[in-house]
Amino acid sequence: MTAVRVPGLPRIEDGRLVSTSPATGVEVGRFPVATPADVRDAVEAARTAGQWWTGLGCTGRRERLLRWRALLAQRIEELAELIHTEGGKPVADAVVEILTAIEHIDWAARNARRVLGPRRVRSRLILAEFTGHLEYQPYGVVGVIGPWNYPVLTPVGSAAYAMAAGNAVVLKPSEYTPTVGQWLVDSLAEVVPEQPVLTALHGLGEVGAQLCRSGVDKVAFTGSPATARKVMAACAESLTPVLLEAGGKDAMIVDTDADLDAAAEACVWGGLTNAGQSCIGIERVYVVEPVFDAFLDRLVERAGRLTVGPHDADLGPITMPGQLDVIRRHIDDALARGGRAVLGGADAVTPPYVRPTVLVDVPEDAAAVREETFGPTLTVSRVRDADEAVARANALPYGLGGAVFGKRRAVAIARRLRSGMASVNSALTFAGMSTLPFGGVGDSGFGRIHGEDGLREFARSKSITRRR
Ligand code: NAD
Repeated sequence: MTAVRVPGLPRIEDGRLVSTSPATGVEVGRFPVATPADVRDAVEAARTAGQWWTGLGCTGRRERLLRWRALLAQRIEELAELIHTEGGKPVADAVVEILTAIEHIDWAARNARRVLGPRRVRSRLILAEFTGHLEYQPYGVVGVIGPWNYPVLTPVGSAAYAMAAGNAVVLKPSEYTPTVGQWLVDSLAEVVPEQPVLTALHGLGEVGAQLCRSGVDKVAFTGSPATARKVMAACAESLTPVLLEAGGKDAMIVDTDADLDAAAEACVWGGLTNAGQSCIGIERVYVVEPVFDAFLDRLVERAGRLTVGPHDADLGPITMPGQLDVIRRHIDDALARGGRAVLGGADAVTPPYVRPTVLVDVPEDAAAVREETFGPTLTVSRVRDADEAVARANALPYGLGGAVFGKRRAVAIARRLRSGMASVNSALTFAGMSTLPFGGVGDSGFGRIHGEDGLREFARSKSITRRR
C-alpha cells in the first residue's frame, strides 16, 4: 500500500483520495484520484450530455432541476448529516446551507427562460430598417471547482445556474469534502439518469489544474485568492473564460445611531458561524468612538455564550488542520504587537477546535487585520467617525461583502464600501438572496454568481441582425 501525504492535505492511498472527519479522524469517503485521461473522458462525456441537455430547452431543464430540488428537500437530513461528518459543520448550520442551495436551484430553474430567452430589438437611426435578435446560448461544458467550507452551496451556486442556462457541468469538489460533492452528483443522476449532465472528478489541486486545461468552455472557481491566480493563469493558456469567487476579509461598521444589540447579535452570527470559516465572514469590526464600549460589552457577552465542540455545539471543528496554525499565528502576532484579547486569546486554539476570540487594540498592519484568518476571531477597532471606518474597511485588496449598522447614514456608508456586496442592519444576508448577484472586487475575484447576472455568466450572447 502506498500512502502519499502532503502536509496539511488529505491523504492519497493507492491512488485514492481518503477523506476523514475533522472531529474524529474517522474515514468518511474514498475516491479514485482522476488521471489526465479521466479528466479528458469526463469532459468529452459532458460535451455529449450538454448537447442533449441544451436540446431539452428551458422547460425540460426546469422540470428536471425542480425534481432535483425536491429530492434535496426530501433528503435534507441525510445530506446535513454528511456535511457535518465530513466537514465538521454543526447539523443546524448544514440545514441552513442546504435550504439556501435549494432556493438557488429553484430560482435558477424558474427564471432561466425569462432572463435568457430570445428577444427582438429594434435598431435606431442609420440602421432603422434592421431588426436585431438577441439570443443567449450555453457555453457547452462548464468546469466548477469548489471549496470545502460550503460544500453544497458553493458548487450549487455555480452549477445550478450553469445547468439552468443549458450547460453540462464537470465538478471538482474540494479534497476535504469529496463525499458531499459525489452525493450531489449522484442525486442529480437519480432525477436525470439519461446523461451525465453533472459529473465529479476527485483529487488534490492538480486535478483542478487539469480541468482548467481540459478544453472546458468556462471555469467557475470558488476558493482562495492564491489558487484563483493559478486558475486564471491556467485558463489564460487557452483563453478559457473564468469566473473567480475568491476569499474575503469583510468588515462591519457600527455607526453612532446603530441598534447595538442587533449589531452585536449580527456580528456573532456574521463572524463566528461555521467557526468563522466563511468567505463572507465578518473578520474586522470598526466601531465609532461614542458607542465602542457599549458595543464591545454586548459582543463579548454574546460571543462568550457560544459552545464549541462536536455534535450540537454552536461552533464545530476547524476543517483544514493547516488552518489552525494560521489562526494561532494571527492571534499570537496580534497579542505580541500590543493587541488585547477580551475573549479567547492565546490558549483559544485546542485542535481541532478554536474558542471564539475577540481582539482589540490590534495595529492595522497586523496579520489578524490584513489577512484572511478563516477562524472564529474578530478584531474590533475604535474609529473617530464613519469616514475613518470606511477608509480602514477599504484599505485591503479584498472586497467581497461587508455590513453596516446604523440609521441615518447606513445605506450611504454601504455604498462607499469597496466590495461586491453589503448588508445594512444585518450580516451575510446577500448570500441567501437568489435574486441578487454574488461576487467580489479586487482579490475577492470577479464575475457574478446568483440572480440574473449569475445566469448570464453561463451563457454567451449572440447577436443576429436581419434586414426587413
Ligand atoms: P483553495 O483555493 O485551497 O481550494 C479550492 C479548490 O481549488 C479545491 O477544490 C482545490 O482542490 C482546487 N485547487 C487547488 N489548487 C488548484 C490549481 N492549481 N488549479 C485548479 N484548482 C486548484 O480554497 P479552500 O481552502 O478550499 O477554500 C477556502 C477559500 O475559499 C477561502 O479563501 C474562502 O474565502 C474562499 N471561498 C470563497 C467563496 C466566494 O464565494 N467568494 C466561497 C467560499 C469560500
